[in-house]
Amino acid sequence: MAGILERYRKFYDFGDDFPIISLEEGNTPLIPAKKVADAVMQKSGKKGIRVFLKFEGLNPTGSFKDRGMTYAVSQAVAQGHTHIICASTGNTSAAAAAYGARAGLKTLIILPGGKVALGKLSQAILYGASIVEIDGNFDQALDIVRDLGATGKVCIVNSINPYRLQGQKTGAFEVCDALGEAPDDLYIPVGNAGNITAYWIGFKEYADKDITRKRPRMNGYEAEGSAAIVLKRKIEKPETLATAIRIGNPASWQAAEAARDESGGRIDSVTDDEIVAAYQFLAANEGVFCEPSSAASVAGLLKASELDQVKDNATIVCVLTGNGLKDPDSAIKFGNPERAQLPADSAQVAEFFKL
Ligand SMILES: *Cc1c(COP(=O)(O)O)cnc(C)c1O
Repeated sequence: MAGILERYRKFYDFGDDFPIISLEEGNTPLIPAKKVADAVMQKSGKKGIRVFLKFEGLNPTGSFKDRGMTYAVSQAVAQGHTHIICASTGNTSAAAAAYGARAGLKTLIILPGGKVALGKLSQAILYGASIVEIDGNFDQALDIVRDLGATGKVCIVNSINPYRLQGQKTGAFEVCDALGEAPDDLYIPVGNAGNITAYWIGFKEYADKDITRKRPRMNGYEAEGSAAIVLKRKIEKPETLATAIRIGNPASWQAAEAARDESGGRIDSVTDDEIVAAYQFLAANEGVFCEPSSAASVAGLLKASELDQVKDNATIVCVLTGNGLKDPDSAIKFGNPERAQLPADSAQVAEFFKL
């Protein structure tokens, strides 16, 4: 299966000689989630709800960022750049480093020190990127990237690069292709607010071209400790264990509000406890291992169910943005503590398992 730029080539205007840098990203599964649907119906009293998980953790570097990075890095090559640069809470840097390596570019990465999950950092290191951890948060890292980008010596591959969103819109295309129609509701985590913006671009494009008849309500969820859009103000010191959405000044703030308003959706927040509960529920009941930030979409859906914000017979898609293996520390911290170290002895093991 080809990557997203080849599969959806007719939705782009690049020519035959465009240098596509791809790891065959996209084509991720849309997994039915009956246990989540049952929980939604139980909490809301509504009937006929269908829930699907768009599991973006199965992209080549383990997050949806690959969809945008294939296009941004291909453009960087087409424009003759030798260096790409990004600020990152982790997944953007992993994707940039991978596609940068494949393209033969030098990848420069600025990270909020001590706030990047282990899996993401290890990826950037092995892909060979040059990495600076700053004593500061993501928003400050992005400010530095903007400064260095202004020198003209490096190509910025954060989502302020418009090609990123144009690549990420293919997530919406795939959802519609799999369902045969747009869903009624999309639930999605919101950090820098690029992905909610990109999905809305994709859903609108399919409806405008009459590939689908309707457009979904866009429901975005920030973490409570970094809920700038919900609170209508920048958060100077964003805090949440969902590090991928630990962003206090979202770059696509206005575009995300437009997606919300044009679609009749909402942007709300979920607490870290709600995020962890959804993270555990998905793993233990659906067998789906996403990272904590990704679970904000399902946490949002469960919150909306309690607030009577879901409708009878709705088809709902929750985007799970990244793979759980990215963040082994959280899995061990919040996973089932029923574990033991025992001698190699059948009787003792049987006793521990209560067999
Ligand atoms: C980047 C990222 C987000 C946030 O996406 P935005 O486009 O910044 O809103 C959410 N979850 C994961 C796993 C991510 O990597």
